[in-house]
Amino acid sequence: MDNNIKPRIWLSSPHMGGNEKKYIDQAFSENWVAPLGPNVDGFESDLQKFLNVKHAAALSSGTAAIHLALTILGVDTGDEVLCSSFTFSASVNPIVYQKAKPILIDSEKDTWNLDPLLLEQAIKERMKNRIKPKAIILVHLYGMPAKMNEITAIASEYDIPIIEDAAEALGSTYKGKALGSFGDIGILSFNGNKIITTSGGGALISTNKTYVNKARFLATQARDDAPHYQHSQIGYNYRMSNILAGIGRGQMEVLPQRIQKRREIFDYYKDSLKDISVISFCDEMGSHYYSNRWLTCIIINPGKTNGISREDLRLALEKENIDARPLWKPMHLQTVFKDYPSYLNGISEDLFHKGLCLPSGSNLTKNDLDRIVQVIRTTLIPV
Ligand SMILES: *Cc1c(COP(=O)(O)O)cnc(C)c1O
Repeated sequence: MDNNIKPRIWLSSPHMGGNEKKYIDQAFSENWVAPLGPNVDGFESDLQKFLNVKHAAALSSGTAAIHLALTILGVDTGDEVLCSSFTFSASVNPIVYQKAKPILIDSEKDTWNLDPLLLEQAIKERMKNRIKPKAIILVHLYGMPAKMNEITAIASEYDIPIIEDAAEALGSTYKGKALGSFGDIGILSFNGNKIITTSGGGALISTNKTYVNKARFLATQARDDAPHYQHSQIGYNYRMSNILAGIGRGQMEVLPQRIQKRREIFDYYKDSLKDISVISFCDEMGSHYYSNRWLTCIIINPGKTNGISREDLRLALEKENIDARPLWKPMHLQTVFKDYPSYLNGISEDLFHKGLCLPSGSNLTKNDLDRIVQVIRTTLIPV
């Protein structure tokens, strides 16, 4: 064994608060080892309180939540759905599950999220072809709020519902209101790498009770109200287990601390690297914008680095056993989506080429952060 290998620093690893086990033990002792029970109810009510939304359904994943949202809004074969191109594939895959057609929209440079100008251009052009888009899937990438004023105004002008993909943005707010609560339907993820986790899981939230009841119905195999098993619709098995919801309840107790820590990590990177002019960050666009800083991302301008690229820096970090990743590769550049219509301005592609996500987990120590900053500095500052 090589004793020189330092311990691995992960991009974003689970960070338990301590009470998760208490809720799981309770479920075992009461034999609530099932896809329903007091932890599911408790977790849903914790989410409702935290987000200030009326209704929440805990589900097996964020992807399942997006799939149900599309189903509830009636998205079906041949329908068009507008979606942020700069995102993780899980935002778009469920459109294809429904045999509908993704229309991919590029980002603006301020928040890296859905560009309102391109959004409106796309809607106008689709409607000229007499196809009105059925829904907009709006993503808040890396926790940064999208330009909500502009986007919600366009959505209401053209009367198109918004599915708000807040998988990366739990705890972020816009004008003090929780992300996920703006859309007709919001979705969350509790996958292992997110700001809090249930190991795997998601939720669908809405102020509309009918939508959330429909989500619960479809997520439990669409059983009609009858003593026998009666089905008049195709259902899914998408509910969250009562064991995993116990992890969620423990995690909700520490969520405010997790957000605070991730924001401190962003500030620490920004401060420690402020003298390196080739590095830039995605800043909040004024006081309306509050990001949970799920991942801290840096942009490296290779024109100014004597040719050192984002990839060179990533490999330098990897050599020191530090996990850093390029930003999401936009969906319009992916083999599976490249033939769908897209409205582009080059911004997300440019961010993909220049951007790197740095380790940002709330369990990182000061020592970990110093190790990372050290590698970045020695790689980018010529001696
Ligand atoms: C993680 C993620 C999802 C999917 O959530 P899962 O719980 O992993 O299915 C969807 N959209 C975005 C933007 C994500 O980051």
